[in-house]
Amino acid sequence: MTAHLPSQAGAPAAGPGRAGFQPPAVIAFDRVSKRYRGGRLALDDVTLGLPDGGSLGLVGESGSGKTTCVRLALGLDRPTSGRLTFNGAAYPAGRGGLRPLRRQIGFVLQDPYDSLDPRMTIRDVVAEPLRIHRLPGGRGRAADRVVAGQLAAVGLPGADLRSYPSRYSGGGRQRIAIARALIGSPSVLICDEPTSSLDVSVQSQIVNLLLDARRERHLSMLFVTHDLDLIGRVVDTVAVMYGGRVVETGPAELIRRSPRHPYTRALHDAVPADHPRGRRLASRGAGPLETAGAGGDAGAVPPASQDEAAAGYPAEPGGAGLTGAAAHESCIFASRCPRAQDRCRDERPPMIEEDALRSYACFFPLPEERMADDGRV
Ligand code: ADP
Ligand code: MG
Repeated sequence: MTAHLPSQAGAPAAGPGRAGFQPPAVIAFDRVSKRYRGGRLALDDVTLGLPDGGSLGLVGESGSGKTTCVRLALGLDRPTSGRLTFNGAAYPAGRGGLRPLRRQIGFVLQDPYDSLDPRMTIRDVVAEPLRIHRLPGGRGRAADRVVAGQLAAVGLPGADLRSYPSRYSGGGRQRIAIARALIGSPSVLICDEPTSSLDVSVQSQIVNLLLDARRERHLSMLFVTHDLDLIGRVVDTVAVMYGGRVVETGPAELIRRSPRHPYTRALHDAVPADHPRGRRLASRGAGPLETAGAGGDAGAVPPASQDEAAAGYPAEPGGAGLTGAAAHESCIFASRCPRAQDRCRDERPPMIEEDALRSYACFFPLPEERMADDGRV
């Protein structure tokens, strides 16, 4: 069953009735599934496209498969089935083949405390991509100059290049991580929860920095977050993920204001606890997503592989996993959905293309509505 994105999202295969301009996808997932060793199905038939020069947000609670998408897009893992392309060509196998592709991709990960090697000076951390990809400015005096310029561009002018990332606060470290991501002039920027570990007061500075970089450098951006409110500020198009599947896609603002999939609505209600709206919700009792896991076994994630370690990827706490055939034959959200009926438990809903902009996988979608900012209809 194909979970396709509407044409604006740069999805690969064009079907009947797909009229109008389709920007080519720089990174495309075509019916991609990923099963980790140990039997977890972390991605289940995902089709996504990051439009060239555009932005795509992946949003969903912990365990929904967002980081797995990022790992595949970075070439750190390979799909179990389906096809992944970069500018139309299949991802090459092996490190050597991947190197030119990785040069095109800068990435900023969730936790700057983990993603920056504490034993490396700021200069070496930031210049490392230049050395790996044998670009000018990676060594010697030239590196000092290039790194100082890059750090100034991310709001750290005059930083001591011989100091260590540990000298900086979370926000400072994330600025260093952004400098490192951008130094090789990538064409794509992938951000995996880049502000989730930061104080609220620092979050918007970092988001603004990323948005400025995107605009000035004409980057294509894949942005991952669990925060539906944030995603609307950052990207044009959103794919809502749950349990390894894409359940709804469309323009960020439309998805946030008028979700059609009940899971998107639940996600909207379950804003982060540190959000002003979240504090109000918390005082009224937990939202639907604060009380339950993603309906699966919440086992521990095995240790990170060599490649993960190389990319500074921390092993994440175990979220929900999917096992067994039942996961394939029902709506993935049925067990938690207030609108579920027998059909939802017996059949997997296909991705329904509502119009050129929006698709959702639901037999009983919410009626069109306009929600107020506090989530009330
Ligand atoms: P998210 O980033 O949305 O929180 P992930 O992509 O990290 O979700 O995880 C999706 C699912 O895959 C979860 O069930 C998680 O426990 C599982 N998972 C993630 N990484 C691994 C791994 N290395 N080995 C086994 N299972 C994993
Ligand atoms: Mg994640």
